[in-house]
Amino acid sequence: MTKNMICINCPRGCRLTVTRSAEEQWEVTGNFCARGKSYGIQEATDPRRTVTAVVPSAEPHLPCAPVRSNAPVPVKMIPDLLNELYQMRLTAPAKRGERLITNWRETGIDIIFTSDFPAEV
Ligand code: SF4
Repeated sequence: MTKNMICINCPRGCRLTVTRSAEEQWEVTGNFCARGKSYGIQEATDPRRTVTAVVPSAEPHLPCAPVRSNAPVPVKMIPDLLNELYQMRLTAPAKRGERLITNWRETGIDIIFTSDFPAEV
């Protein structure tokens, strides 16, 4: 199995080719540095992304609250996470950096506020 991808760890954007050998070993070519190798293997075996979203307020006159995951989320779980976040309606005030969700679905991933809610104007 071979996958081609672009490393997104820095602006250089190396074009990686990730191949799994018959011995179940992963080989990465096209990377300029070691970060590209680990990125390529991670992306081929368990791709993850940091999730950002906005969560609606229960009060129609208040804006949504921006949040993000504190660690990359497995790509296949992102739709479930976003669905959960968009179904929520915030009622309590929160400070930037506070957790909205702790250990989401036993992944060890927290969802944190990236600004105060409601935002000060
Ligand atoms: S392999 Fe290294 S140099 Fe190339 S894009 Fe990734 S981090 Fe940057």
